[in-house]
Amino acid sequence: LSTSLEAAWSKLRGEEILTKENIVEPMRDIRRALLEADVSLPVVRRFVQTVSDQAVGTGLIRGVRPDQQLVKIVNEELVKLMGGEVSDLVFSKSGTTVILLAGLQGVGKTTVCAKLCFYLKKLGKSCMMVAADVYRPAAIDQLTILGDQVGVPVYKEGTEVRPSQIAKNGLEEARKKKVDVVIVDTAGRLQIDKAMMDELKEVKQAVNPTEVLLVVDAMTGQEAAALVTTFNIEIGITGAILTKLDGDSRGGAALSVREVSGKPIKLVGRGERMEDLEPFYPDRMAGRILGMGDVLTFVEKAQEVMKQEDAQELQKKIMSAKFDFNDFLKQTRAVAQMGSVSRVLGMIPGMGKVTPAQIREAEKNLIVMESMINAMTPEEREKPELLAESPARRKRVATESGKTVQQVSQLVAQLFQMRVRMKNLLGVMEGGSIPALKN
Ligand code: GDP
Ligand code: MG
Repeated sequence: LSTSLEAAWSKLRGEEILTKENIVEPMRDIRRALLEADVSLPVVRRFVQTVSDQAVGTGLIRGVRPDQQLVKIVNEELVKLMGGEVSDLVFSKSGTTVILLAGLQGVGKTTVCAKLCFYLKKLGKSCMMVAADVYRPAAIDQLTILGDQVGVPVYKEGTEVRPSQIAKNGLEEARKKKVDVVIVDTAGRLQIDKAMMDELKEVKQAVNPTEVLLVVDAMTGQEAAALVTTFNIEIGITGAILTKLDGDSRGGAALSVREVSGKPIKLVGRGERMEDLEPFYPDRMAGRILGMGDVLTFVEKAQEVMKQEDAQELQKKIMSAKFDFNDFLKQTRAVAQMGSVSRVLGMIPGMGKVTPAQIREAEKNLIVMESMINAMTPEEREKPELLAESPARRKRVATESGKTVQQVSQLVAQLFQMRVRMKNLLGVMEGGSIPALKN
């Protein structure tokens, strides 16, 4: 997706202004890119129309290239299409909040149930899960295991009890125990059918939920539009959760949900671990779809590990291209602490899916980098230019860290590349320059 969009924009680079004529081709590419990303055709049509109208109508801002302007408009419209801003979960003003999860089989409802508890516990809320998927005993066991994992009680009854009854009893129990949030896990089918909808309606009626969240697999693609529409009409949803965004999905589902239902995506799942649930940021998703990579999510991940002010400082530094070896080191350490280098690498633009061998390689690289950075003087860490300018300094770092001069040079070059890349990605489209290392 990103390459074809880049191609669309580069065509505009030499133009002076955006006209009906010169946006035809980039818009055709954008259209194709969105279709490739599995966005449903009507949504794509409306999108392309809106962007074209906007683009031709807007006067060029002085100093902004036409391609940048088109990028800006496409980006803004994508963000708008996905709801504009983060849409928080709603909690009932008093007493116990009920969240009902719905969705097809295998989309990740049960996993989301536990992830939500993990997420809500971090917000200081007490939780309880209700096992209202009674068709497979394994489903109840699965929830019980996950409950143990996140330290949250699971309310369950026999498989012969009606799901609506279980949900009702579960809620009663939760109210008695003054639990803040009850999450009801329900059964899904492979396809939409009347029995599932009827059951969901019955459960909904029994517990009067604050949130009815449709769990959608990001891989669903085009069909997400029909799916969301049906669930919304049949049972009435308050929002959606998009799962498996860590996979090969191309994001099309994210574009359709809001457009067809008017309901926001509230959270996204990015993996199988309990911590892999995050708020849905339309601007970041747009950036990701536009091939700018998910730098902000990267910074946020690091933030969880680093101190808050450190992360803000880092963001500021990236913006002003002062990102130095101290930041580099902090980040590498944070990454190591995060445990999963693969996920982070996936977020760094220009790097696609990684294999386990590549992950091991990356982890080894981190250790090597760290030893070289440790051998630098504080001044050198703050001013990487010193190392770029002085072969003697690079040699000293190499000797002290037991690495080769070539490795040190590579690391220095990498820092400058990262600076430029991050600066570009954060919207300063002009970018800086990468100094050649002096010999
Ligand atoms: P349910 O049938 O809707 O309850 O789906 P489950 O919660 O049982 O999940 C089905 C499978 O998808 C399980 O193997 C989960 O580990 C996996 N899964 C759920 N969410 C995610 C996600 O965000 N990313 C990935 N990669 N796998 C997920
Ligand atoms: Mg399940």
